Amino acid sequence: MVRPRHARAIHRNSIILMIQLYHRHAPAATPSVMAVRAVFCRPMSLARRLLLRASRSAWLAGQLRDRAFLRRAVRRFMPGEELPAALGAAAELAALGIGSVLTQLGEQVAARGEAARVRDHYLDVLAQVGARRLPAEISVKLTHLGLDVDRAACLADVQVLARAAADAGSFLWIDMEESCYVDATLEIFRSVRSAHERVGVCLQAYLRRTPADLGALLPLAPAIRLVKGAYNEPATIAYPSKRDVDAAYLVLAERLLERVARREARAVFGTHDLALVKRVRERATTLRVTPGSYEVHMLYGIRSPEQRALARDGVPVSVLISYGTHWFPWYMRRLAERPANVWFVVRNLI
Ligand SMILES: Cc1cc2nc3c(=O)[nH]c(=O)nc-3n(C[C@H](O)[C@H](O)[C@H](O)COP(=O)(O)OP(=O)(O)OC[C@H]3O[C@@H](n4cnc5c(N)ncnc54)[C@H](O)[C@@H]3O)c2cc1C
Repeated sequence: MVRPRHARAIHRNSIILMIQLYHRHAPAATPSVMAVRAVFCRPMSLARRLLLRASRSAWLAGQLRDRAFLRRAVRRFMPGEELPAALGAAAELAALGIGSVLTQLGEQVAARGEAARVRDHYLDVLAQVGARRLPAEISVKLTHLGLDVDRAACLADVQVLARAAADAGSFLWIDMEESCYVDATLEIFRSVRSAHERVGVCLQAYLRRTPADLGALLPLAPAIRLVKGAYNEPATIAYPSKRDVDAAYLVLAERLLERVARREARAVFGTHDLALVKRVRERATTLRVTPGSYEVHMLYGIRSPEQRALARDGVPVSVLISYGTHWFPWYMRRLAERPANVWFVVRNLI
């Protein structure tokens, strides 16, 4: 039988193992918690790269997914694995004047039947949102709806969801995934947007191509959720430095706000970067765009007091609530966004 102290040590070592497996130069000697802290608490891209690579490892997901310490840590970003927990959180946020965007975790499904089940799940979500009159929208990943398996069927499913979202008084967001999916995602967005108004797409400021993509979408009077970008992309494709990404974000935000001023776009700023939000709001004031005409969306569990403060200030705020059992890659990306969060995971071991 494994005694609790030994179990904790095994769990701690699985994190260390993860570091060693994904970074060839990790210390070979028996590592300590201090070593974990040294790797993850320094503001460097090594930890980010490590975590983003880990997010793509099915083996690692299998090793760590059922560990109690990791499940405890995940709860910080997720009200629960099941839809009722997400709807409950949405109702609580609604009472505070904050909207929600619901997303079932999952990506890159390999079978058409699986994709059809995801579509049906979202149809059920929209029915429940409509019945409970929740101020909630949905956000989907196209690879979760079978983009890799059958693009035509994926497009048909997105059309179905866009119609159901409109019927429920809700809205359909399309996430943006890795750079290899951008063309297909924008193509599907364009097709669906030509028939439905209540659909929007996410654009990533870190991609060098995004200014051109935004320019091509603007004539559609689009709904755009602007984010920095969460994936591991080469420098030829995405800006590697935070400073460049922030600068690109601000330029794109200003272009969107100009369209909002003419009522030709719905602009959502999906970021927890409060300095950036402040600068976006200053640009909005300069352009005479009122706080009620653009939105800020953040993730569940991050910057909650600031979400409420923005809402009190008249900015429409929504919180993206993720749920589901397939949380490992998504959680690794959340850790990569702020590698110091790994310390929070380690604390759950001790
Ligand atoms: C509503 C929403 C939808 C999104 N949709 C997509 C999408 O479709 N495609 C995509 O590629 N990316 C998406 N993202 C993720 C996004 O690309 C960034 O990876 C993520 O938002 C972190 O960047 P940031 O803008 O918050 O700025 P950062 O500069 O990374 O962070 C600013 C500050 O926010 C806090 N913070 C940020 N992240 C965390 C965290 N995980 N835990 C604790 N504190 C944190 C920290 O204090 C940090 O210093 C989405 C993000 C949001 C909020």
